[in-house]
Amino acid sequence: MTQRSLNLAEVAEDANAEVTFVPEDDAHHAGSRSVWRILAVDDDRSFQRATALALKNTIIFGRRLEVVQAYSLAEAARQLAQDRDFAVILVDVVMECEDAGLRLAKGVRETLGLMEPRIVLLTGQPGFAPVARVMEDYDLTDYCIKSDLARRSLNQVLTGAIRAYRQLHDLVSARKGLQLIIESSSRLAAARSIGELARKALAEVARLLDVPVSGVVCEGARMPADGDTIASCDTRQPFVTCAEGCFADAHGRALSALGDHTVEQTIRQALAGHISIDTAQGQAIFLPREEARSDYVVYLRTGRPLDPAEKELLGVFATNLSRGFGNVALIDRLDRLAFEDPVLRMPNATALLREIDRLRRPDSHGGRLVLFDVDQFSRQADGLGDGFRNALLAAVARRLESAFPQPAMVARIADDLFGIVGPAMSVNLDRASGVLATPLEIEAAHHWCSACTAEIPLDTAHADAHALKRAALQTLRIAKSRGSGHGMRWSPEFERDEARRFRIHARLTDAIAQGGFHVKFQPQFDLDCGRLIGAEALLRWHSPDGPVPPDEFIPIAEKSAHIHAIGRYVIEQACDAIGELEAAGIADVVVSVNVSARQFEQDGLTDAIREICHGRRVPLDRLGIELTETAVMSSFDRVVEVLHAHRDAGGKVAIDDFGTGMASLEYLHMLPADFLKIDRTFVSSLDHEERGRSIARMIIELGHNLGIALIAEGVETREQADWLRRHGCRFAQGWLLGRPLPLPQLIALARDGRGLP
Ligand code: C2E
Ligand code: CA
Ligand code: CA
Repeated sequence: MTQRSLNLAEVAEDANAEVTFVPEDDAHHAGSRSVWRILAVDDDRSFQRATALALKNTIIFGRRLEVVQAYSLAEAARQLAQDRDFAVILVDVVMECEDAGLRLAKGVRETLGLMEPRIVLLTGQPGFAPVARVMEDYDLTDYCIKSDLARRSLNQVLTGAIRAYRQLHDLVSARKGLQLIIESSSRLAAARSIGELARKALAEVARLLDVPVSGVVCEGARMPADGDTIASCDTRQPFVTCAEGCFADAHGRALSALGDHTVEQTIRQALAGHISIDTAQGQAIFLPREEARSDYVVYLRTGRPLDPAEKELLGVFATNLSRGFGNVALIDRLDRLAFEDPVLRMPNATALLREIDRLRRPDSHGGRLVLFDVDQFSRQADGLGDGFRNALLAAVARRLESAFPQPAMVARIADDLFGIVGPAMSVNLDRASGVLATPLEIEAAHHWCSACTAEIPLDTAHADAHALKRAALQTLRIAKSRGSGHGMRWSPEFERDEARRFRIHARLTDAIAQGGFHVKFQPQFDLDCGRLIGAEALLRWHSPDGPVPPDEFIPIAEKSAHIHAIGRYVIEQACDAIGELEAAGIADVVVSVNVSARQFEQDGLTDAIREICHGRRVPLDRLGIELTETAVMSSFDRVVEVLHAHRDAGGKVAIDDFGTGMASLEYLHMLPADFLKIDRTFVSSLDHEERGRSIARMIIELGHNLGIALIAEGVETREQADWLRRHGCRFAQGWLLGRPLPLPQLIALARDGRGLP
């Protein structure tokens, strides 16, 4: 407690006594008690006795009176130092000195700073009356001559004084309420939503006017938001944002559902006229849209008219509130810009990250993130225009939102990529896989779609939401590499893989500069006659960390420009091999190289091949190109052009890994190919799986129909070789027939004329 001790010796100077007023900060207000407390200060003991007696059973405004008596200015000062809690101070003007009463009044107002207690001056001398200025300066409520009190009862004097006290007390507490509101204005502005602010606003106004909370906050016409049409704004019905007390039923509904015609009309008038309206039953406070995005009216039922002071307070409050609404609307809008996808009007990647962070906090119960990537979206959508594209995405978004209702959050992360985050119970791959189980209906037509999905728990060791999202994207890439419609759960190993890939990429750069590669050649045979017909050039790399299989480093090289240098190296090696085979007198073995999709993207692949062959004086027709179905499909026209050029020059073309890609028959017809290579997976399943056998049969039949020869890959057993030959696949390569060999061994093999082992 801070004690302000003031020496008011001058107050009681003639008594030579020090009169000290000590204000007490935590003193109660008289108004908060169940009695009215009166301090009677008079040195006339008989008057004091009479007063106490007269007021003993008096009740004013429903409360009894408690009279505390002091017999001198000094005693009153001591009393007030301990206890400030009085509604009325009755004080005799003349006590220790001529103007003791006035001194007391001055001390109460100026030293103690007590503004609320009403001071009534009493005097025994009919001739004495204080000048008006004194009455005003010390805020004296009344002045009576003791002898008159018989006529004008003390009761009557006190009733007036208490009424004044009560009003003032209410006003002061209202002002204190306002002060609280001003202080809390930053808190009001920090309210995240208009709804929250509206609720607070109603409570504050009610407290200010000391009435129960019964009212509404109504939103009028709004300014066009980004994406709203003007028409939808103009025709917007006033809307009840928040409703309390007897209006509670109207919450979240149109104003017309308020159920109180008079109040409804008042609010409409306020909205239409941009004015606050003061009625005997309630207050409609208009908050203009300059501050908030929309016009708002806060209506509070008061059940009574307001006095002028209350009205003034309400005005100040309204300005403050208007600013609050403006701030919240602004935050709301910024929030929308920062966290909403502008096209689909749903949370965006930033919102998703924020939600992930929130759910990853220690006090939350974890959860999961699922990524959902619509397959071949760009191809579907490109053909059909932007409108269709957005309609398709919106349809997918709605599906996701109904499959993953709140508390889960569905966000659009990129073009056709969505993220869902929420409780592990409901956010999982299983549910995601059902989302596109039925066709989407767009523009009155059915569209079948599929999606690749990835799932990751939120409680992984990842540093933050960004790292977690990256891990999920990596998992999604793996799912996508398996083909359309695949789902994949994250595993910590993926992370180790990622680190390894990064390292490999760095090592590849050195290997290209320093020549860390070599090539092996796997022989290919004619199963009918056992003759060596060709060899596939397969790249080998001994990195400083040990040998790395091409399956691992080729995809990494494909992601950078490395693949071009590597591709050129292999073609050079193949041409060198052709030259050496030729020099050894072997002129009928075709050496094939694997060419990846990215190599076709570069201009001049055909020229480069021709130039390398010419430089080494090897005939082009001895060089074969192998490319996968997927590579063909990635840029069909361009690939076909290169293949044609190569074949026109006499070169051979083989479609690799056939059966695993997605080339349709229609494309195959147009494809300039000499060989289809039956993928190893079908060959290896020939022994035990009917599915593999029937696919192999189909590919062989297809080859025959199109006039394309067949080479089986990965033949490891005699049974496989026999089955293939019996079913019309003439050519084969595989460990049964020969492992990839260094060039001298291949030359030896060819020279020996060794056929099938
Ligand atoms: P691919 O073109 O399908 O090559 C055949 C792969 O099967 C080779 O693996 C080969 O060693 C392996 N293989 C051959 N016979 C058998 C067998 O009987 N059993 C089994 N289990 N495997 C057999 P490799 O050399 O590891 O190459 C893997 C893939 O890497 C290749 O698949 C090819 O896609 C790619 N690749 C290899 N070299 C190059 C290259 O120079 N350029 C490009 N772009 N890709 C290459
Ligand atoms: Ca190959
Ligand atoms: Ca292959």
